[in-house]
Amino acid sequence: MVKFVFVTGGVLSSVGKGIITSSIGKMLQARGFRVTAIKIDPYVNVDAGTMNPYMHGEVYVTDDGGETDLDLGWYERFLNINLSKENNITTGQVYQAIIEKERRGSFLGRCVQIVPHVTNEIKSRIRKVAKQSNVDVVLTECGGTVGDIEGLPFLEAIRQMRLEEGYENTLYVHVALVPILDVTGEMKTKPLQHSVNELRRIGIQPDIIVARCEKMIDSEALRKISLFGTIPREAVFCSYTVQTIYQVPLILDEQRMGDYICERLKLSKTPPNMDEWKRFVDAVLNPRHEIKIALVGKYAGLADSYVSMSEALRHGGALCQTRIIIEYIEAERFEQNSKELSLLKNFDGVFVPYGFGKRGTEGKIMAIQFARQNNIPFLGICFGFQLAVVEFARNICNLKNANSTEIDPETPHPVIDLMPEQKHIEYKGATMRLGAHKVIIKPGTLAHKLYKAEEIYERHRHRFEVNVDYLQTMESQGLVFSGTSPDGRRMEILEFPNHYFFFASQFHGEFKSRPGKPDPEYYGFVKACLDRKLGKPAPEF
Ligand code: GLN
Repeated sequence: MVKFVFVTGGVLSSVGKGIITSSIGKMLQARGFRVTAIKIDPYVNVDAGTMNPYMHGEVYVTDDGGETDLDLGWYERFLNINLSKENNITTGQVYQAIIEKERRGSFLGRCVQIVPHVTNEIKSRIRKVAKQSNVDVVLTECGGTVGDIEGLPFLEAIRQMRLEEGYENTLYVHVALVPILDVTGEMKTKPLQHSVNELRRIGIQPDIIVARCEKMIDSEALRKISLFGTIPREAVFCSYTVQTIYQVPLILDEQRMGDYICERLKLSKTPPNMDEWKRFVDAVLNPRHEIKIALVGKYAGLADSYVSMSEALRHGGALCQTRIIIEYIEAERFEQNSKELSLLKNFDGVFVPYGFGKRGTEGKIMAIQFARQNNIPFLGICFGFQLAVVEFARNICNLKNANSTEIDPETPHPVIDLMPEQKHIEYKGATMRLGAHKVIIKPGTLAHKLYKAEEIYERHRHRFEVNVDYLQTMESQGLVFSGTSPDGRRMEILEFPNHYFFFASQFHGEFKSRPGKPDPEYYGFVKACLDRKLGKPAPEF
């Protein structure tokens, strides 16, 4: 019998439900149970792919090409599992499926309603994931805050699941903010109480409450949460602010949350083994070195826009016992005043992330040129890879005004161009080249040393690519394309051997990076930044 854990949120969004959901999974895994996690996003978009990162943070990409909410990234990183696009359920998907069925005549003669048709569709999607993933426990996190109009059908569906799956097989975990008043230092539980009431109004009585608070909640706050929440004190936990989010499963397990969940779900009680996780956390908390990385991007105002990338850098850092300090720099700053480029000299590495559209591209190209000319370690991902090609074409190959046709459709040298299969695409949703594709690595290259393999699978999300008409010109000037698609026509990795560390990929290594097992390109970059700072020759790997 599969067990279902549902996580809801109260008071406000962004209280860390995703991390708490992942942490519950970690505590269960540490006791030998197999888990998977689903994110429900009540918005009407079919997937996250059409949203600007400023709206919801980065778009996460799964192996099967789903463009999903970034919480799937936390599940994958914490639980070291690979999820499918089906692990992200949205209102858009649910209605699209129901309307399609209605048009086909599947509901012939009936009036199609939120209950039971929409709720049935939601439940069947959750159960489908449960069935396909062959696990002991399915965690389902409901996005947004209880009381949101969009969330109602989802909460109704999970309410019904208690009845259908049974008390011992379902668990409701409610996460809510407990603010501390500046003036008196008092912990205020009233907003949390209201959010529990809101949940009850829908018919869900939480089994566990997690108070999200800056500090460990005091006994008075605990007493009130238990009393007004109608749950035993042993079922109230606190996710207080810690140095690194990777500590969250450890602090919750210390409060015996893992044991409580197992008891409540009648799962056999085995002592947890978190040794490996603790070792990773220790490495993050006790670095011996420190490096500063300049992330030159377009969505620099919101760190969540680059969360998988910054985590991948941290995974690399942990392996080198190095604290990573990332400064988010708006690329446009360099366009406005090129003197600001010298600022990059204060950094150990320059990182140019993914991106779309024109804004900030010239600034990114300037930053890449600066890193190349000053021998500062450089890593480019996706758009960063494409702009490294543009920079090389312009400044080394003398191809004046070379560009990507995404930025300048009239460029005389379209060194980056739309992929042929993209030319006739009209719909914007889920039409990029997405998900895991095979990459062949050239023996003897830096890429080969880093990946220690000749074939890898990496996740993609792009419409444009290197124009092979310019390959010879660029290769004759020393640029090496060390990774390609199996047919050799699609460039996937570039490196510039005349440089301390100059590496970029069309794919996104960050999506496969895990605590304790950093992605090779991120690890290589971090190690190069550190070695150069320590005055060592370029790392050999
Ligand atoms: N805009 C570029 C493309 O579509 C790069 C995409 C990205 O950085 N993810 O190819």
